[in-house]
Amino acid sequence: MFVTTPSPTVAAATDEPVVELRDAAFGYGERPVLTHVDLTVHRGEVVAVVGPNGSGKSTLMKGLLGLNTLSSGTVRLFGEPLHEQGDRARMGYVPQRHTLSASVRATAEEIVASGRLPRLGWFGRLRATDRQIVARSLELVGLSDRAATEVSTLSGGQQRRVLIARALAGQPEVLVMDEPTAGVDVASQHVLADVLARLAARDVTMVIVTHEVGALERLLTRIVVVDAGRVRFDGTPAQYAAARSDVHHDHDSHHHDHELDPGHGHPWSPVGSAPFEGVAPRRSRRA
Ligand code: ADP
Repeated sequence: MFVTTPSPTVAAATDEPVVELRDAAFGYGERPVLTHVDLTVHRGEVVAVVGPNGSGKSTLMKGLLGLNTLSSGTVRLFGEPLHEQGDRARMGYVPQRHTLSASVRATAEEIVASGRLPRLGWFGRLRATDRQIVARSLELVGLSDRAATEVSTLSGGQQRRVLIARALAGQPEVLVMDEPTAGVDVASQHVLADVLARLAARDVTMVIVTHEVGALERLLTRIVVVDAGRVRFDGTPAQYAAARSDVHHDHDSHHHDHELDPGHGHPWSPVGSAPFEGVAPRRSRRA
């Protein structure tokens, strides 16, 4: 088999994190919601961010996009400080629980084309290449045959896919998605998971807030657990499963560790429907 060895410069460029948070604290106004966050994402990774409602997952996503207050620490994107990022379109965003309003009178293609705007500049017009990218984005989410359909007539799951296609049309290097599979039926969740798998196969870097780790597990490279405003765990799906079984073992042995058990009922378990029981904090696991 013919194997090429990447030159050191290519390897260095590939290894440079696309997202790097160091002791970051994010919030709204004066009050930080999320503190002491260390997080590094490399190109091609698919990272799930899980945790109970209100724990700070959306706040973390908005923090990555510069949409809230960074009160301490640092955020670097593509090797540069967040506030020095000239090209915001390098980060694509699919916001939480967002479906298109019934009052929007636009076709799927028109909505997806609006995602091209950051690449056109003000008053820019779509050129042939832009139209090809829009068509390709619709194809990637499996909606080529719905390009001319009014979005208000599409199902919730299809509307989510239109919104993912809209983000893709901006040709982001990192796609940040807040609960892309929430609130859609199980069949649509599987379709969405297939769409995300297709993107992962094309090395699209993704950071995905999700309740449905199960549906996405096969494509994840990392799982990050956020609870009560802190990152409690950051590891591979295998380490995550092992940490969970450690916790179960501890419970069996009656060694109850309150730090491992935030005590919220929570349905995100990747190993059946057990309630949220937390996982080992990563600093103590490294020690
Ligand atoms: P999650 O995504 O894990 O459900 P969030 O990040 O949405 O959690 O919320 C974490 C905390 O931040 C909650 O206490 C919430 O009330 C607060 N919060 C979220 N958005 C805002 C906002 N725009 N202004 C003030 N507080 C907010």
